[in-house]
Amino acid sequence: MGHRKPFVAANWKLHGSKSQLEHFTSQCTERIDEDVDVALCPSHVHLGFTAELLGEQGRVKLGAQNVSQHRHGAYTGEISCEMLVEAGCRYVLVGHSERRRLFGETSFIVAEKFAAVRAAGLIPILCLGESGAARQARRTFEVIAEELDIVIEKNGAMAFDHAIIAYEPIWAVGTGKCATPEQAQEVHSFIRSRLAEDTPVIGEKVRIIYGGSVTPANAQDLFAQPDIDGGLIGRASLDGEAFLGIVEAAKGAS
Ligand code: PEP
Repeated sequence: MGHRKPFVAANWKLHGSKSQLEHFTSQCTERIDEDVDVALCPSHVHLGFTAELLGEQGRVKLGAQNVSQHRHGAYTGEISCEMLVEAGCRYVLVGHSERRRLFGETSFIVAEKFAAVRAAGLIPILCLGESGAARQARRTFEVIAEELDIVIEKNGAMAFDHAIIAYEPIWAVGTGKCATPEQAQEVHSFIRSRLAEDTPVIGEKVRIIYGGSVTPANAQDLFAQPDIDGGLIGRASLDGEAFLGIVEAAKGAS
């Protein structure tokens, strides 16, 4: 980790109940200090409830897992950025691989969502990642560049002043097969340099977190890498103690 403040986010996906959220937030809120930025992304249905549990001044901030690129209109089932602001969100995951893969989100839609999130004053967490097949074909940098460049083209590199990037290799998300620290570092460094080519100050400043089967056991070595600024945590975040272990590792590496 460099000089950037660590950031760790919990992505609860399609998991969690009110009682689990009560348990998790009571475990976490007292044990997280200001040295690490932490976000919790529960289901949309639980956002309001979680906002009340976390409180406005709490250390753990609220994030959403997805948002519509549209402000309003006939889009049944969708949720707008303004609605997320009203619910108390600060962060929004944009372009998670499960959204891209299972729900047909193209890189173009992801770039539109990124713009909508920024316009609403929320902080996008832009997820990028290659498939196992792309990695085997040595196309990792090509895929990452394609996913990143379209967001830069639509929004400008300066838009990353208030944004976070999550490198999430698809083959590592939810599989138990974490990237090695070297594999992750190589891609983080590539992403940072690509932003720096356009705007050096952003390349230096933007926080790039890693996601994909992070656990308390592997977090320390990942976060020790110079361009890894924290983690996006799925499965391990459902267990408060495991999540706190990962937050501690991020703090220790900073
Ligand atoms: C994720 O959902 O973003 C994720 C990284 O999941 P997991 O930690 O379970 O691989």
